[in-house]
Amino acid sequence: MKKTNFLFMISIFGLMFSCQTKQEPKNEQQTHTQDSTFEYVAEQFADLRVLRYKVHGFENLAPKQKELLYYLYQAAYSGRDMIYDQNYKYNLTIRRTLEAIIVNYQGDKNSDEYKNFLIYAKRIWFSNGIHHHYSADKFIPECSKEYFTSLLKSVPADKLPLRKDEKIESFVERIIPVIFDPQIDAKRICLDTKKDVITNSANNLYEGVTQKEVEEFYKNISDSKNQTPPMYGLNSKLVKENGQIKEKTYKVGGMYDAAISKIVYWLEKAVTVAESDLQKQSLEKLIEFYKTGDLKIFDEYSILWVKDTEPMVDVVNGFIEVYGDALGYRGAWQSVFSIKDLEMTKKLSKISSEAAWFEKNSPIQDEYKRENPQGVSYKVIQVIGESGDCSPTTPIGVNLPNSNWLRATYGSKSVSLANIEESYSESEKNSGLLQEFHTPEQIEHIKKYGDYADKLHTGLHEVIGHGSGKIKADVGSPNETLKSYANTLEEARADLVALYFLYDQHLVDVGLIPTIDAGKASYDYYIVNGLMRQLRRIKVGDVLEESHMRNRQLIAKWCFEKGKAKNVIEKKKIDSKIYFVINDYSELKKLFGELLREIQRIKSEGDFQAGKKLVETYAVKIDQEVHKEVVERFQKLNASSYSGFINPKLTAVEKDGKIVDVKIEYPKDFTEQMLYYATHFSFLPNEN
Ligand code: ZN
Repeated sequence: MKKTNFLFMISIFGLMFSCQTKQEPKNEQQTHTQDSTFEYVAEQFADLRVLRYKVHGFENLAPKQKELLYYLYQAAYSGRDMIYDQNYKYNLTIRRTLEAIIVNYQGDKNSDEYKNFLIYAKRIWFSNGIHHHYSADKFIPECSKEYFTSLLKSVPADKLPLRKDEKIESFVERIIPVIFDPQIDAKRICLDTKKDVITNSANNLYEGVTQKEVEEFYKNISDSKNQTPPMYGLNSKLVKENGQIKEKTYKVGGMYDAAISKIVYWLEKAVTVAESDLQKQSLEKLIEFYKTGDLKIFDEYSILWVKDTEPMVDVVNGFIEVYGDALGYRGAWQSVFSIKDLEMTKKLSKISSEAAWFEKNSPIQDEYKRENPQGVSYKVIQVIGESGDCSPTTPIGVNLPNSNWLRATYGSKSVSLANIEESYSESEKNSGLLQEFHTPEQIEHIKKYGDYADKLHTGLHEVIGHGSGKIKADVGSPNETLKSYANTLEEARADLVALYFLYDQHLVDVGLIPTIDAGKASYDYYIVNGLMRQLRRIKVGDVLEESHMRNRQLIAKWCFEKGKAKNVIEKKKIDSKIYFVINDYSELKKLFGELLREIQRIKSEGDFQAGKKLVETYAVKIDQEVHKEVVERFQKLNASSYSGFINPKLTAVEKDGKIVDVKIEYPKDFTEQMLYYATHFSFLPNEN
């Protein structure tokens, strides 16, 4: 287990969005050794790195708990195909084509062309499709079209995902442009508000409808007087058929039937070994939701799930985060199943008592503060496995459910993924990023306190950040009022809450951080990341699109500009390299508070114009001089920008047809795991 002496996670229930905190590879100061024999890094290719994680505490579970996890494992991977299909209509066809080649190709597998082909396949597994998981840009194989075609033709036709009566020639004609032409379906999600964000997104969440039609469709079915509205559109694809716009619902007997029926099969087994009555009821509701597709039942399920905090085992299995949809309606399918990290949860639970203090002392307008934060539920978990939108790349913190009214009334569960964080920390030790972009003074702070500060930031962001503030009466939800800027502004708001409090004597007083210098570490880290480090992930000439990246630059750049008169943040050249240095931490805290107040106002009042101006001015365009230099400096490090994970494998030990034990293994080979999933958990048709 991680040795940590301070409490840093807090949880209150808020009426805000949930979010999945994305990992920014961090400092290298973690000194604890988890397990010197465990290999955290499996391999590296393109801009990606594949890591492994270990589960602490699995062996101590009761046989029934292990059995429950085994069923949840089966349910999780049974749904995996759905995220491929949601991301893009031809993802399953392409993935199965690549897998057929990898399994059946008998020629030279050591040639550069084949190696490039294999990297393309790995990138697709990593991103759950042909678009980069983070930038959403389509990527193209490094091997030639001709070579790819020759591989394809070497595979027996019956192994390929051909359409009914389709000849291999027409299949090649159809599939090669989809893979190789950069112009076709270039972006999975389009956030450019000057364009129709629906028709310009290549994802498979809509078909034949325009942005205007989608907006009208949901305007017509939403009832502003309804205080408990379901999350319309969460579990369906919106299509136009014979001139009629309608939802194709994901459910048993509906869209994705083959995968969802399998999930239901395994969840029904899970019900028989549930740890508590509440957990049993909650799983039964989830099954009912999958069978009916009724979003009101999903809300009923979520209420049970939120209340169910006692058991060791927990699971998220459903259509959850809406970041993949430019209009934020449709939930990407995902599953995370886990056990409690008892030791860490105990350590951190103490801080929940500060939730009210944070809200009271927040710099936002009194009228937008929450009066009575609803319930508190925070825990640290050990991930047993992840699937769908949460794998191979994963969040490190999650706060659910997403329904605003439900969070306000029943609260939420906030969760930190400890063994994933451990793997990140261990594997980042020698990346060299810290030395490249920080000054020696900053490195000293970060090395000393970065680990705490980082975790504290995550906790404050998730629970206090997303959980604070409220929307003015009669103002619509942020998705309606702030549209495509809603996610960026919400992430900025949550980060600002964390940042504002991280440099606060109160945290020292309650024992959260040892000294205020810990706050300095997180300020140094955040500003340098927002203005420099994170740009390594973007091609020179491009703009920022992803909401977490946008929010980081929005905050860092706004403070840089606004603090210029007092030289709060200084851009320096040292040895002809650019650095950003904070000269006045107290002033920076004030700036964070000022911006937080304004963003809370924008959200509470639904001020679209002000929100748009903030994001467009500070969060989208990149300083070209800094960007070029960052990319050059990063390239020299030979480090990768993104990490994904190989999941543990569970195997049931049976006796007389009954499960008596479950074994956990930690596979080492990414390709092998992907092919294993393809063989055992691929249930959907090629096109849906
Ligand atoms: Zn967030």
